[in-house]
Amino acid sequence: MTESQYDVIVIGAGIAGLTAAKHAAQSGLATASVEALLFGGLVININELDGEPHGSGTDLASTLMMEVSDLGVANLSETVTALARDGDSLSVVTDAGRHRARAVIIASGAQLKRLGIPGEAEFEHKGVSQCADCDGPMYQGEDVVVVGGGDSALQEALVLAGFCKRVHLVHRGTQYRASRHLVDAVAARSNIQPVWNTVAEAVLGAQMVNAVRVRNVVDGAMTEIPCTGLFAYIGLEPRCEFAPPEIQRAANGGLITDNSLQTALAGVFAAGAVRAGYGGLLTHAIAEGNAAAKAVRAQLGG
Ligand code: NAP
Repeated sequence: MTESQYDVIVIGAGIAGLTAAKHAAQSGLATASVEALLFGGLVININELDGEPHGSGTDLASTLMMEVSDLGVANLSETVTALARDGDSLSVVTDAGRHRARAVIIASGAQLKRLGIPGEAEFEHKGVSQCADCDGPMYQGEDVVVVGGGDSALQEALVLAGFCKRVHLVHRGTQYRASRHLVDAVAARSNIQPVWNTVAEAVLGAQMVNAVRVRNVVDGAMTEIPCTGLFAYIGLEPRCEFAPPEIQRAANGGLITDNSLQTALAGVFAAGAVRAGYGGLLTHAIAEGNAAAKAVRAQLGG
């Protein structure tokens, strides 16, 4: 089992985490970045970022990753399983060993929520997808269902509308909670068909998806929408199973911090989509990554 010591360990190499690692390393702090999956986080699924910064999610993440590497940040491809205070330092346990740090920034992000309906897991990668940019071209000229009424659902419906014959945008309400420009863009696309007051009940198919069963929440009527793809964008859930109970969670599972982004466990900070109160925009992730690193530097005297 390896054991190493850093000033700060950043858990998660999404945009908030990479930004925090970059800022910490620039402050002269010995920094490690731990990431079990691919660097970049959810943003790497987006070909065209909506607003600032411009470009693709992959380009943004790659640039940050190179900057972080050039600054000498240790890049640990490990899964964090536990985090605890251990005397004067914090202990980060991973599937590969134990690391110690004077401060930890949790930036482990969030994952897309699942609908939890019959057929969703069974048809994963057989029509059920979570990435419109990656999988959209496979649905050229076909009908797909997108579930949700927030920014993600509308943004991804617009991506899919570029490939598909028709996008059925299934929303449980009668009003989207998305940005005005996305609502307007969706209204302007003739091949996006809003399906109001409706929830998805089951994914149907044989080898592959061939329909989604939906229920009207007003009159209870059940119908089937023939389609070959289902994309659910019904919000995010924070990923922080390893965080100890001393760090309180909000109702959505996000980690609660004070104004300096420090949690109730001294020396442990949280930034980005894992944090309760995160604003949801890329610019917020960047701002929180910077703010957490700044707070760590102030605490450690870097
Ligand atoms: P969100 O804002 O939480 O919206 C989730 C949507 O899914 C809501 O319309 C909600 O319906 C619906 N929903 C939730 N649970 C459901 C269920 N079980 N069945 C059916 N529908 C359900 O999530 P999001 O769109 O993923 O956005 C997350 C954050 O990222 C937000 O802060 C957003 O602004 C940000 N974001 C920004 C951009 C951008 O700027 N372009 C792009 C993507 C995301 P109700 O409305 O009825 O509650």
